[in-house]
Amino acid sequence: MNILILNCGSSSLKFQLIDTDLARIDADTDLLLARGVIERIGSQSLISLIRQGGAVTKLALPLRDHRGAIEWLCQWLIAPDSDIPTINSRADIHAVGHRVVHGGEKLTQSLLLDTAGIKAIEDCIELAPLHNPANLDGIRAATAILGPSVPQVAVFDTAFHATMPEKNFLYALPYQYYRRYGVRRYGFHGTSHRFVAYRYRLLTGLARQDVRIVTLHLGNGCSACAIDGGVSVDTSMGMTPLEGLVMGTRSGDLDPAILEYLSHKEGMPLEQLLGVLNKQSGLLGVSGLTNDMRELLAEERDHKDRRSTLAIELFCGRVRRYIGAYLAELNGANSIVFTGGIGENSAEIRARICDGLRWIGVELDPALNAQAIGREALISTASSRLAVYVIPTNEELLIARDTFRCIWARDHEAV
Ligand code: ADP
Repeated sequence: MNILILNCGSSSLKFQLIDTDLARIDADTDLLLARGVIERIGSQSLISLIRQGGAVTKLALPLRDHRGAIEWLCQWLIAPDSDIPTINSRADIHAVGHRVVHGGEKLTQSLLLDTAGIKAIEDCIELAPLHNPANLDGIRAATAILGPSVPQVAVFDTAFHATMPEKNFLYALPYQYYRRYGVRRYGFHGTSHRFVAYRYRLLTGLARQDVRIVTLHLGNGCSACAIDGGVSVDTSMGMTPLEGLVMGTRSGDLDPAILEYLSHKEGMPLEQLLGVLNKQSGLLGVSGLTNDMRELLAEERDHKDRRSTLAIELFCGRVRRYIGAYLAELNGANSIVFTGGIGENSAEIRARICDGLRWIGVELDPALNAQAIGREALISTASSRLAVYVIPTNEELLIARDTFRCIWARDHEAV
């Protein structure tokens, strides 16, 4: 089944086209047919696409909205020069899987969309006003372009964390704010943590109930997750993705009273301050240079830039703090697992994080660590008390498989 995976941001769209079915899932032979990203939707959009085995196509075109972008994308997918042998008309796109950021408390599993499902996602807009509307635009656009009979599935970033116990998801605020307004921690990056936990199980041969790990998704956005019995019991992002680790441009944890103080000092309204916390803080804010970890490491190496080092140290220190907290929460664990752009590719950052964990017997093997770039690998020594792994994430693959499974379940329940 050819499944189009859409991840719609406010002005961007990432996509993959994946061929999967029961046999492919079983054999782990899902086929990536094409992938790409369209940025700056709403003005002169930048498009970068690649068909599997082909060259990268880059172009700039005015695309007015998500509908325009998806319309263009479908044309490209079926055009002869895109050269995807199994896609010759729109009818060859059999289903669409959407990454949806917020599912609130009710949408805790991937969902085959109908009118009621779309309404339920709309009900979560209040919780994710920046993200869910873009996801809904993508859903509506796909319906308009491919027709209402093409099944669409929503896979929620929050869903994996629905198993968190109340003591971990509640803030220590007056309880009625949770009851009345749903103020609680929801967590995000759930599809990534879930995928990594699943791959970890395959790699180690452990039964699901024996999986007790700390997963670290370190990309532009960053989050840690404590997984016990294969399910999430705690995670570092909160009501919004702002809480927790230091990220590319997000501050992560801070004292909320800073908001009032800064608002007074800088004469800034709250909304603008939240923009600073989301877009001008983290690695970018501390270094004053960039949100890109590669560039910070280069600045440190080539120019001994003090604030780049400070940003990296803050980043690694916060990750260590969460590892410590989650090992306590889990009462010990089998492994720590790195994923995300930084976690998968930077041996140096992994080493700097783990360097402060010798006291609990974490011992990286420098050679294994250096070789583990963008691939699954054990990077700790045989005598390390906790194993440390690198497991590249693949959220799109999980979305494709969930999409297939939801449709399969519908068809087999109906019989
Ligand atoms: P997103 O969260 O947007 O999906 P990614 O998971 O792709 O982002 O991660 C992007 C981050 O990964 C950037 O900070 C980038 O600098 C970092 N990164 C990628 N490769 C490396 C590397 N080899 N060394 C250090 N950082 C890297």
